Amino acid sequence: MRWFERLHTLYVLRRHPISHSTWEQVIDRGAVFDGLSAVERAHLRELTTLFLHRKSFVGAHGLVVSPAMAVTIAAQACLLVLKLALNYYDGWSEVIIYPGAFRVARNNVDQIGLVSAQTRTLSGESWLRGPVILSWDDVARELESPHIGHSVVIHEFAHKLDMRNGRANGMPPLHSVMEISHWTEAFTNAFNHLQQRLAHHHRPAIDSYAGTDPAEFFAVVSEVFFTDPQTLIAEYSTVYQQLSQFYRQAPHDRAGQ
Ligand SMILES: [Zn+2]
Repeated sequence: MRWFERLHTLYVLRRHPISHSTWEQVIDRGAVFDGLSAVERAHLRELTTLFLHRKSFVGAHGLVVSPAMAVTIAAQACLLVLKLALNYYDGWSEVIIYPGAFRVARNNVDQIGLVSAQTRTLSGESWLRGPVILSWDDVARELESPHIGHSVVIHEFAHKLDMRNGRANGMPPLHSVMEISHWTEAFTNAFNHLQQRLAHHHRPAIDSYAGTDPAEFFAVVSEVFFTDPQTLIAEYSTVYQQLSQFYRQAPHDRAGQ
């Protein structure tokens, strides 16, 4: 059926193009896209077009999702899979966008089984086999003043890649050429190093939220990998190398980085 899939892809690309002005506006505003070659940009545009066609974008609390908003999120999501494939995002269908940070209520179960309700305010969330949820305020703010090292969109979609083999645990399914032991060693050493810095009240080079657990560590270092690769190389070069093998990209080598 490959010929059919290819035909369908061509049909979608022709029938549902992203307007030139929207695409240029999104790509020029996002520092994270700096340094992509013309070929990579063209491929990213194709992936983004297909992503918009496959996923539904839903505004919450009355938010109307404009084409530029959807493209802004989709293009960043597709940057993660630029050298992988769009089917890395198979198995779920919705991107829900709130106007601002949103509150979620959760039941926490402690070690002796006591249940307590906890309310948290979030800028993004990813559900296993469910939607990606984002706060537009946070997405837009990061674009207006590129907060080097941070991208809520990259963070949440990194969780989605991690969840391809079940609940997020900090290790997505690796390519066959990669060694699980190399990944585990690099990530465990870096995570332990970060924990030590936090325990001694030293300011870490990356967001301290990465110290929450291995899943958050993977999502945060993915943000740094794409938005501030120099810092990741300086702090955790073996993690950068493993991510470079996983994403099949080397953001540090791009012109402009
Ligand atoms: Zn997270």
